[in-house]
Amino acid sequence: MLVDLKRQPETAFLRDCHSQPLQQTLMDLETAFSNFFAKRAKYPRFKARKITQHSLRFPQGVVVVDERTISVPKIGLMQAIIHRPLMGIAKGATIKQDATGAWWVVFVCHIDRPDVPMTADRPVGIDVGLESFTTLSTGEKTAPPKFYRHSQKKLARAQRKLSRAQKGSNNRLKAKKRVARLHKKISNQRVDWLHKHALGIVRRFDMVCIEDLTIKGLVKTKLAKSFNDAALSTFMQRLQEKAEWHGRRVVKVGRFYASSKTCHVCHSKTALTLADRVWTCPTCCTTHDRDGNAAINILHEGLRLLAVGTTESQNAAGDGVNPAKRW
Ligand SMILES: [Zn+2]
Repeated sequence: MLVDLKRQPETAFLRDCHSQPLQQTLMDLETAFSNFFAKRAKYPRFKARKITQHSLRFPQGVVVVDERTISVPKIGLMQAIIHRPLMGIAKGATIKQDATGAWWVVFVCHIDRPDVPMTADRPVGIDVGLESFTTLSTGEKTAPPKFYRHSQKKLARAQRKLSRAQKGSNNRLKAKKRVARLHKKISNQRVDWLHKHALGIVRRFDMVCIEDLTIKGLVKTKLAKSFNDAALSTFMQRLQEKAEWHGRRVVKVGRFYASSKTCHVCHSKTALTLADRVWTCPTCCTTHDRDGNAAINILHEGLRLLAVGTTESQNAAGDGVNPAKRW
Protein backbone atom coordinates (compact mmCIF):
# COMPACT_ATOMS: atom_id res chain seq x y z
CA MET A 1 0.00 0.00 0.00
CA LEU A 2 2.92 2.29 0.69
CA VAL A 3 3.90 2.49 -2.97
CA ASP A 4 0.34 3.34 -3.91
CA LEU A 5 0.04 6.00 -1.23
CA LYS A 6 3.19 7.68 -2.47
CA ARG A 7 1.55 8.12 -5.88
CA GLN A 8 -1.64 9.69 -4.58
CA PRO A 9 -1.52 13.50 -4.46
CA GLU A 10 -2.81 13.94 -0.88
CA THR A 11 -0.26 11.53 0.55
CA ALA A 12 2.56 12.44 -1.81
CA PHE A 13 4.46 13.93 1.15
CA LEU A 14 5.48 10.36 1.97
CA ARG A 15 7.96 10.62 -0.87
CA ASP A 16 9.94 13.20 1.09
CA CYS A 17 10.86 10.54 3.57
CA HIS A 18 13.30 7.68 3.30
CA SER A 19 11.47 4.40 2.68
CA GLN A 20 12.82 2.59 5.74
CA PRO A 21 11.33 4.84 8.44
CA LEU A 22 8.00 4.50 6.66
CA GLN A 23 8.24 0.73 6.79
CA GLN A 24 9.27 0.92 10.44
CA THR A 25 6.19 3.02 11.16
CA LEU A 26 4.01 0.35 9.59
CA MET A 27 5.70 -2.26 11.76
CA ASP A 28 4.97 -0.11 14.79
CA LEU A 29 1.36 0.05 13.69
CA GLU A 30 1.26 -3.71 13.46
CA THR A 31 2.68 -3.97 16.97
CA ALA A 32 0.06 -1.51 18.19
CA PHE A 33 -2.71 -3.62 16.66
CA SER A 34 -1.40 -6.92 17.95
CA ASN A 35 -1.12 -5.35 21.41
CA PHE A 36 -4.71 -4.19 21.04
CA PHE A 37 -5.97 -7.62 19.97
CA ALA A 38 -4.03 -9.28 22.79
CA LYS A 39 -5.80 -6.81 25.15
CA ARG A 40 -2.52 -5.29 26.27
CA ALA A 41 -3.34 -1.84 24.93
CA LYS A 42 -6.13 0.42 23.77
CA TYR A 43 -7.18 0.82 20.18
CA PRO A 44 -4.42 2.68 18.28
CA ARG A 45 -5.08 6.38 17.80
CA PHE A 46 -4.45 8.39 14.70
CA LYS A 47 -1.69 10.92 15.03
CA ALA A 48 -1.61 14.03 12.93
CA ARG A 49 1.55 14.62 10.94
CA LYS A 50 1.82 18.22 12.11
CA ILE A 51 1.35 17.97 15.85
CA THR A 52 2.78 14.62 16.79
CA GLN A 53 6.12 14.49 18.46
CA HIS A 54 8.24 13.56 15.53
CA SER A 55 10.08 10.31 15.53
CA LEU A 56 11.59 8.17 12.83
CA ARG A 57 13.54 4.97 12.92
CA PHE A 58 16.25 3.82 10.59
CA PRO A 59 17.14 0.14 10.81
CA GLN A 60 20.47 0.98 9.17
CA GLY A 61 22.36 3.77 7.50
CA VAL A 62 22.74 6.32 10.30
CA VAL A 63 26.47 6.71 10.76
CA VAL A 64 28.59 8.67 13.20
CA VAL A 65 31.09 10.50 10.99
CA ASP A 66 33.14 12.31 13.65
CA GLU A 67 32.61 13.82 17.11
CA ARG A 68 30.31 16.47 15.70
CA THR A 69 28.65 14.96 12.69
CA ILE A 70 26.30 12.14 11.85
CA SER A 71 25.12 11.07 8.44
CA VAL A 72 21.46 10.27 7.93
CA PRO A 73 20.02 8.59 4.80
CA LYS A 74 18.31 11.01 2.41
CA ILE A 75 19.18 13.94 4.69
CA GLY A 76 22.95 13.83 4.61
CA LEU A 77 25.41 15.20 7.14
CA MET A 78 23.98 16.72 10.30
CA GLN A 79 25.57 18.42 13.25
CA ALA A 80 25.20 16.50 16.48
CA ILE A 81 26.50 16.46 20.01
CA ILE A 82 27.77 12.93 20.54
CA HIS A 83 27.90 12.56 24.29
CA ARG A 84 29.73 9.26 24.31
CA PRO A 85 31.39 6.99 21.79
CA LEU A 86 29.31 4.17 20.34
CA MET A 87 30.05 0.72 21.71
CA GLY A 88 29.93 -2.35 19.50
CA ILE A 89 28.21 -2.27 16.14
CA ALA A 90 25.47 0.27 15.59
CA LYS A 91 22.46 -1.58 14.19
CA GLY A 92 19.91 1.16 13.87
CA ALA A 93 18.92 4.56 15.07
CA THR A 94 15.83 6.39 16.19
CA ILE A 95 15.67 10.12 15.61
CA LYS A 96 13.09 11.89 17.69
CA GLN A 97 12.03 15.26 18.94
CA ASP A 98 11.02 15.69 22.56
CA ALA A 99 8.41 18.11 23.89
CA THR A 100 11.02 20.76 24.58
CA GLY A 101 11.82 20.80 20.86
CA ALA A 102 15.22 19.14 21.15
CA TRP A 103 16.12 16.40 18.69
CA TRP A 104 17.71 13.17 19.86
CA VAL A 105 19.41 10.30 18.09
CA VAL A 106 19.28 6.98 19.89
CA PHE A 107 21.44 4.14 18.61
CA VAL A 108 20.83 0.45 19.04
CA CYS A 109 24.18 -1.29 19.34
CA HIS A 110 25.09 -4.94 19.37
CA ILE A 111 27.77 -5.66 21.90
CA ASP A 112 29.65 -8.85 22.67
CA ARG A 113 29.52 -9.12 26.41
CA PRO A 114 32.10 -11.30 28.13
CA ASP A 115 30.53 -14.24 29.94
CA VAL A 116 30.48 -13.63 33.66
CA PRO A 117 29.84 -16.73 35.76
CA MET A 118 26.68 -16.33 37.82
CA THR A 119 26.82 -17.02 41.49
CA ALA A 120 24.40 -16.80 44.38
CA ASP A 121 27.07 -15.93 46.94
CA ARG A 122 25.63 -12.62 48.02
CA PRO A 123 21.86 -12.90 47.77
CA VAL A 124 19.39 -10.22 48.75
CA GLY A 125 15.62 -10.01 48.95
CA ILE A 126 13.85 -6.79 48.06
CA ASP A 127 10.41 -5.68 49.08
CA VAL A 128 9.11 -2.77 47.05
CA GLY A 129 6.38 -0.47 48.22
CA LEU A 130 4.90 2.92 48.76
CA GLU A 131 6.32 4.03 52.08
CA SER A 132 9.76 2.70 51.53
CA PHE A 133 10.67 2.40 47.88
CA THR A 134 12.84 -0.62 48.51
CA THR A 135 13.45 -2.54 51.69
CA LEU A 136 16.35 -4.98 51.54
CA SER A 137 16.44 -8.18 53.53
CA THR A 138 19.37 -6.59 55.35
CA GLY A 139 16.85 -4.15 56.82
CA GLU A 140 18.07 -1.23 54.74
CA LYS A 141 15.33 1.14 53.58
CA THR A 142 15.31 3.68 50.79
CA ALA A 143 12.67 6.40 50.71
CA PRO A 144 10.88 6.93 47.39
CA PRO A 145 12.16 9.88 45.38
CA LYS A 146 9.77 12.82 45.23
CA PHE A 147 11.05 14.85 42.34
CA TYR A 148 7.57 15.61 41.12
CA ARG A 149 6.48 16.93 44.50
CA HIS A 150 9.60 19.06 44.75
CA SER A 151 8.93 20.75 41.43
CA GLN A 152 5.19 20.95 41.87
CA LYS A 153 5.06 24.68 42.71
CA LYS A 154 7.23 25.64 39.80
CA LEU A 155 5.22 23.42 37.53
CA ALA A 156 1.93 24.87 38.73
CA ARG A 157 3.21 28.38 38.10
CA ALA A 158 4.35 27.50 34.60
CA GLN A 159 1.07 25.79 33.85
CA ARG A 160 -0.91 28.80 35.08
CA LYS A 161 1.06 31.04 32.76
CA LEU A 162 0.39 28.68 29.91
CA SER A 163 -3.36 28.61 30.49
CA ARG A 164 -3.49 32.41 30.65
CA ALA A 165 -1.51 32.98 27.49
CA GLN A 166 -3.49 33.81 24.38
CA LYS A 167 -3.98 30.95 21.99
CA GLY A 168 -1.73 31.07 18.97
CA SER A 169 0.57 33.68 20.51
CA ASN A 170 4.35 33.48 20.79
CA ASN A 171 4.10 33.79 24.54
CA ARG A 172 1.96 30.71 24.62
CA LEU A 173 4.57 28.77 22.71
CA LYS A 174 7.21 29.93 25.15
CA ALA A 175 5.06 29.00 28.12
CA LYS A 176 4.41 25.61 26.59
CA LYS A 177 8.12 24.99 26.19
CA ARG A 178 8.71 26.03 29.78
CA VAL A 179 6.19 23.46 31.01
CA ALA A 180 7.74 20.82 28.76
CA ARG A 181 11.23 21.62 30.03
CA LEU A 182 10.09 21.25 33.63
CA HIS A 183 8.51 17.89 32.89
CA LYS A 184 11.67 16.85 31.12
CA LYS A 185 13.76 17.85 34.07
CA ILE A 186 11.63 15.85 36.50
CA SER A 187 11.78 12.83 34.26
CA ASN A 188 15.55 13.16 33.88
CA GLN A 189 15.98 13.34 37.63
CA ARG A 190 13.81 10.29 38.10
CA VAL A 191 15.58 8.23 35.45
CA ASP A 192 18.95 9.18 36.88
CA TRP A 193 17.92 8.19 40.39
CA LEU A 194 16.45 4.86 39.24
CA HIS A 195 19.56 3.97 37.29
CA LYS A 196 21.82 4.71 40.23
CA HIS A 197 19.64 2.93 42.76
CA ALA A 198 19.37 -0.21 40.62
CA LEU A 199 23.09 -0.18 39.86
CA GLY A 200 23.93 0.21 43.54
CA ILE A 201 21.98 -2.94 44.38
CA VAL A 202 23.38 -4.94 41.47
CA ARG A 203 26.94 -3.96 42.42
CA ARG A 204 26.55 -5.11 45.99
CA PHE A 205 24.68 -8.38 45.48
CA ASP A 206 25.05 -11.38 43.17
CA MET A 207 21.48 -12.51 43.31
CA VAL A 208 18.44 -10.31 43.66
CA CYS A 209 15.09 -11.78 44.68
CA ILE A 210 12.18 -9.47 44.05
CA GLU A 211 8.44 -9.69 44.04
CA ASP A 212 6.82 -9.91 40.63
CA LEU A 213 4.19 -7.20 41.10
CA THR A 214 1.44 -6.20 38.80
CA ILE A 215 2.07 -2.53 39.10
CA LYS A 216 -1.05 -1.59 37.18
CA GLY A 217 -3.37 -2.62 39.98
CA LEU A 218 -1.53 -0.53 42.51
CA VAL A 219 -1.34 2.68 40.50
CA LYS A 220 -5.11 3.02 40.49
CA THR A 221 -5.27 3.58 44.25
CA LYS A 222 -5.30 7.08 45.69
CA LEU A 223 -1.62 6.86 46.37
CA ALA A 224 -1.15 7.08 42.64
CA LYS A 225 0.87 10.27 42.58
CA SER A 226 3.66 9.24 44.89
CA PHE A 227 3.59 5.80 43.39
CA ASN A 228 3.94 7.05 39.86
CA ASP A 229 6.66 9.25 41.18
CA ALA A 230 8.48 6.28 42.51
CA ALA A 231 8.19 4.55 39.14
CA LEU A 232 8.46 1.02 40.41
CA SER A 233 8.02 -0.76 37.13
CA THR A 234 10.81 1.25 35.55
CA PHE A 235 12.96 0.34 38.50
CA MET A 236 12.29 -3.35 37.93
CA GLN A 237 13.29 -2.99 34.30
CA ARG A 238 16.48 -1.14 35.17
CA LEU A 239 17.31 -3.74 37.78
CA GLN A 240 16.88 -6.55 35.31
CA GLU A 241 18.93 -4.86 32.61
CA LYS A 242 21.75 -4.01 34.98
CA ALA A 243 21.75 -7.51 36.45
CA GLU A 244 21.99 -8.98 32.97
CA TRP A 245 24.80 -6.63 32.12
CA HIS A 246 26.82 -7.39 35.24
CA GLY A 247 26.20 -11.15 35.19
CA ARG A 248 23.91 -11.11 38.19
CA ARG A 249 20.74 -13.06 38.67
CA VAL A 250 17.27 -11.68 39.26
CA VAL A 251 14.76 -14.13 40.66
CA LYS A 252 11.14 -13.06 40.52
CA VAL A 253 8.95 -14.41 43.27
CA GLY A 254 5.33 -15.02 42.32
CA ARG A 255 3.00 -12.22 43.24
CA PHE A 256 0.63 -14.49 45.13
CA TYR A 257 3.29 -15.55 47.53
CA ALA A 258 2.23 -14.13 50.92
CA SER A 259 5.47 -12.31 51.71
CA SER A 260 4.04 -9.71 54.09
CA LYS A 261 1.89 -11.79 56.37
CA THR A 262 4.14 -14.80 56.82
CA CYS A 263 6.45 -14.70 59.83
CA HIS A 264 9.96 -15.39 58.57
CA VAL A 265 10.93 -17.05 61.86
CA CYS A 266 8.15 -19.61 62.35
CA HIS A 267 6.37 -19.40 58.95
CA SER A 268 2.92 -18.97 60.46
CA LYS A 269 0.54 -16.60 58.71
CA THR A 270 -1.17 -13.64 60.34
CA ALA A 271 -3.93 -11.43 58.97
CA LEU A 272 -2.54 -7.92 58.44
CA THR A 273 -3.96 -4.68 57.12
CA LEU A 274 -1.98 -2.24 54.99
CA ALA A 275 -1.74 0.07 58.00
CA ASP A 276 0.19 -2.45 60.10
CA ARG A 277 3.76 -1.27 59.64
CA VAL A 278 5.08 -3.14 62.65
CA TRP A 279 3.52 -6.32 63.98
CA THR A 280 4.18 -9.12 66.43
CA CYS A 281 3.80 -12.73 65.44
CA PRO A 282 1.20 -14.37 67.71
CA THR A 283 2.90 -17.77 67.42
CA CYS A 284 6.54 -17.03 68.17
CA CYS A 285 6.24 -13.47 69.58
CA THR A 286 8.80 -11.96 67.21
CA THR A 287 8.21 -8.31 66.39
CA HIS A 288 8.57 -7.62 62.69
CA ASP A 289 9.00 -4.58 60.54
CA ARG A 290 6.43 -5.25 57.84
CA ASP A 291 8.68 -4.55 54.82
CA GLY A 292 11.82 -6.04 56.35
CA ASN A 293 10.00 -9.27 57.10
CA ALA A 294 8.60 -9.35 53.58
CA ALA A 295 12.07 -8.84 52.10
CA ILE A 296 13.46 -11.75 54.11
CA ASN A 297 10.57 -13.96 52.99
CA ILE A 298 11.15 -12.96 49.38
CA LEU A 299 14.82 -13.86 49.76
CA HIS A 300 13.95 -17.28 51.21
CA GLU A 301 11.39 -17.95 48.50
CA GLY A 302 13.86 -16.85 45.81
CA LEU A 303 16.56 -19.17 47.16
CA ARG A 304 14.03 -21.98 47.31
CA LEU A 305 12.96 -21.40 43.69
CA LEU A 306 16.59 -21.34 42.63
CA ALA A 307 17.27 -24.64 44.44
CA VAL A 308 14.23 -26.25 42.85
CA GLY A 309 15.41 -24.93 39.51
CA THR A 310 12.15 -23.41 38.37
CA THR A 311 13.39 -19.88 37.89
CA GLU A 312 14.75 -20.31 34.36
CA SER A 313 11.51 -21.62 32.97
CA GLN A 314 9.66 -18.96 34.90
CA ASN A 315 11.70 -16.25 33.23
CA ALA A 316 11.14 -17.72 29.81
CA ALA A 317 7.40 -17.91 30.34
CA GLY A 318 7.14 -14.41 31.77
CA ASP A 319 5.46 -11.70 29.77
CA GLY A 320 8.64 -9.66 29.57
CA VAL A 321 9.35 -9.08 25.92
CA ASN A 322 7.79 -6.09 24.33
CA PRO A 323 8.38 -6.36 20.59
CA ALA A 324 8.43 -2.62 20.11
CA LYS A 325 11.19 -2.19 22.67
CA ARG A 326 13.06 -5.26 21.56
CA TRP A 327 13.51 -3.83 18.10
ZN1 LIG B 1 6.48 -16.24 64.12
